[in-house]
Amino acid sequence: MSYISEVIAQTEQKNADQKEFLQTVKEVLGSLAPAIDEKEDIYRKYCVLERMVEPDRQIMFRVPWMDDSGKYHVNRGYRVQFNGAIGPYKGGLRFQPNVNLSIIKFLAFEQTFKNSLTTLPMGGAKGGSDFDPRGKSDDEIMRFCQSFMNELYRHIGPDLDVPAGDMGVGGREIGYLFGQYKKIRNGFENGVLTGKGLSYGGSKIRPEATGFGAAYFLEEILRHQNDDIKGKTFCISGYGNAAWGAVKKVSELGGKVVTVSGSEGYIYDENGICGEKVDFMEHMLTLRAQGKSALGAYTDKFGGTLYKGEKPWGKVKADVYMPCAMQNEINLEDAKGAVALGVKYLCEVSNMPTSNEALDYLYENGVVIAPSKAANAGGVAVSGLEMSQNSQRLGWTSEQVDAMLKDIMKSIHSNIVETLGYYRLPYNLIQGANLAGFKKVADAMLAQGIY
Ligand code: GLU
Repeated sequence: MSYISEVIAQTEQKNADQKEFLQTVKEVLGSLAPAIDEKEDIYRKYCVLERMVEPDRQIMFRVPWMDDSGKYHVNRGYRVQFNGAIGPYKGGLRFQPNVNLSIIKFLAFEQTFKNSLTTLPMGGAKGGSDFDPRGKSDDEIMRFCQSFMNELYRHIGPDLDVPAGDMGVGGREIGYLFGQYKKIRNGFENGVLTGKGLSYGGSKIRPEATGFGAAYFLEEILRHQNDDIKGKTFCISGYGNAAWGAVKKVSELGGKVVTVSGSEGYIYDENGICGEKVDFMEHMLTLRAQGKSALGAYTDKFGGTLYKGEKPWGKVKADVYMPCAMQNEINLEDAKGAVALGVKYLCEVSNMPTSNEALDYLYENGVVIAPSKAANAGGVAVSGLEMSQNSQRLGWTSEQVDAMLKDIMKSIHSNIVETLGYYRLPYNLIQGANLAGFKKVADAMLAQGIY
């Protein structure tokens, strides 16, 4: 049995109930053969793959909190510090009812490779809770965040582990989390969290970074293919932070976005989602937080059609599919529909939005795929820049951060292309991203000995 198959088999045996985690381990390890073949004896001897699929540590804790009526609730908190070989642990916190250890481990594993690709020194982690923020009052959110930090604070620090937002955790939550951390630590260590507000050490362009970065990365791909964003039709899902930034930048660059979506279904707007419609997406988030219909509010104001309970994948004709909503939103059937509709590019913005079968089908049918590990790395990259600004105790302008973000997305693409060239492989960005991300982390692990 090959070294890769052996480690996949062991991982399956040890984590049989963690389907999302196993999905990403198979996808990543399954593409590393060229690197492993190069020095298999060393990787085997030092158990590099075995160590790469086992988190440095995983923390689970109780989060008790009180709602506005005085009733107590208990949720479960997580922080998985997956790999600290190249820098302090870094990765977001997700508050969503479906959060479990498998989901946090899959995200933390992917984060390790993503952070490695950014060119910045950040290890991989992820955390969160099965808490449902929808319909909760501000005070409830604050009490929950304070309770969450009452345990988390002992595991994090500016040089140790730097959490940020993810689904269900935005600027408001980061503010409450930081307030509590500061209270407990008795000091203003704002480098401990990123995604902060501008008034207390946040970075310009951080809210836009994930979506902007994805659009910049796509620009690089299109340049490589002698193609252009201008005039292309885009199908985007979600309307949260990542989707908002993507719609904004894609429309600025001359692309026409015809869909956004949410748990209620998707909106098809043939006139294109741009200008004030993009600004309206922020209001949609507020409506969602209040448990109201956000998509209905959009169609009431701007027209377009709401397809209730449906996803756009495989149904809407577009040149580029840009999933920005959640994991596994595109399955094999959707992929078949996409190919039949002539979709040319898939730019993954949410983490692992496409099933492995769907990815294989799309790739075999000539769709160029930008994997999320690379395409959405702009978010965490600007978080890395926020850490730099915090350590320097200064703040850069939007133009400076935006230029650095663009440069980083360019380097991610060129590093992938170089890596593929080195192994004489075709333009398969999934494999290239995995190989490039792996190499840096593996080198650092080997250099630092077994621990
Ligand atoms: N949650 C985002 C991601 O998946 C951002 C993480 C961060 O900024 O640390 O990359």
